[in-house]
Amino acid sequence: MSDLVSRAAAQAMDAADPLAVFVTEFALPEGVVYLNGNSLGPAPKAALTRLAQAAQEEWADGLITSWNKAGWFALPYRLGDRVARLIGAGPGEVVLTDGTSLNLFRVVSAALALRRDRRVIVMEGSNFPTNNYIVQGLIESLGQGHQIRFAEKDTLEDAIDDDVAAVVLTQAHYKTAHVLDMAAITAKAYAHGALAIWDLCHSAGAIPVDLKGCHADFAVGCTYKYLNGGPGGPAYLFVASRHQGAAAQPLTGWWGHGAPFAFDRDFRPAEGIGRMLTGTQPILSMVATEAGLDMIERAGTGAIRAKSLALGKLFQDLMAARLPDAGFALASPADPADRGGHVAYDHPSGYPIMKALIARGVIGDFRAPATLRFGFAPLHLRFVDVWDAVDRLAQIIETELWRDPAYAAVDAVT
Ligand SMILES: *Cc1c(COP(=O)(O)O)cnc(C)c1O
Repeated sequence: MSDLVSRAAAQAMDAADPLAVFVTEFALPEGVVYLNGNSLGPAPKAALTRLAQAAQEEWADGLITSWNKAGWFALPYRLGDRVARLIGAGPGEVVLTDGTSLNLFRVVSAALALRRDRRVIVMEGSNFPTNNYIVQGLIESLGQGHQIRFAEKDTLEDAIDDDVAAVVLTQAHYKTAHVLDMAAITAKAYAHGALAIWDLCHSAGAIPVDLKGCHADFAVGCTYKYLNGGPGGPAYLFVASRHQGAAAQPLTGWWGHGAPFAFDRDFRPAEGIGRMLTGTQPILSMVATEAGLDMIERAGTGAIRAKSLALGKLFQDLMAARLPDAGFALASPADPADRGGHVAYDHPSGYPIMKALIARGVIGDFRAPATLRFGFAPLHLRFVDVWDAVDRLAQIIETELWRDPAYAAVDAVT
């Protein structure tokens, strides 16, 4: 315990932190340590201002003229180009639209149609289940005998052979935060003629992503986690420019038409990424995403990753020093370089412990059956927050406060 970081030392780390300036740009409640930016990013103050302005000036005052005057119709493309810069994609390769689950449906549909002679889809079984559910529903409705070949982190590459149409994977795991080797897996898929589809929900805004450098084919991801876009904010969708002429998706609505305001009877897809759109977009949710994108661009993904790793390391060190025998087992990779933006621990009483911790103002979350997740989205966090979080957790364990029956009842959303 001799080298245990003191609270004052954590404050000194904040004083030397080049990203510390961003902390005051968030509208966080006093006294709360928010370690759940990996699930719902906190609100940038600028997003709240922008939302109020869009509601008043663009909706209330501008009315329908805002589709042109306020640039509403172009938002999916304009914001898509901004997300593109964070994930190593080019202009015109990304749009913002709908949700991640829907976008996954679109890109997997498009990929299967580009590989009509193949029937196997490789997925990581332990992935966030919506990805499995969407592909299961899609292949059921196609009725063409497609099969999912489930594998796990260490067996994924071996699961890729010449029968595989598409590899559908999430770069950073929602529960353990382990990061897959996007470059190696995509290269293996390419060598076997399969397409590589990446879900970036837990990577964009947290770790550097290079879609083009990896030669990825398609990607999706949400804006409400590390991008601070707000609850239910629109997701993004990437189609590599080389596929855009041929890639087609089945949700062919008027926003994906080549000339939406010609009101033609028959569908004709837009030339570029626009063919991935379907219908009218949630404009207020869209405008709310821009403030978060601004911040991440100003901070830089490299600096974000460096601070996130430093916060996570401080947390791990303090956990090891202060709660060595309390039953917490690290569920994330031991080497921080192999994990995304959060750190996970398993504990047999994880649920009531997390609930007691939240009641003490430290907000993380719990994933069944036993995983506590602590997110280190670094723009709104200080090193001293990490120190205080472990301090409060240690108090809850030492006083056995978590055994209070009030913390045993399971909430609808965990
Ligand atoms: C958060 C997350 C989603 C969310 O899907 P929605 O359609 O936005 O609810 C999907 N997949 C993964 C891997 C996620 O982490």
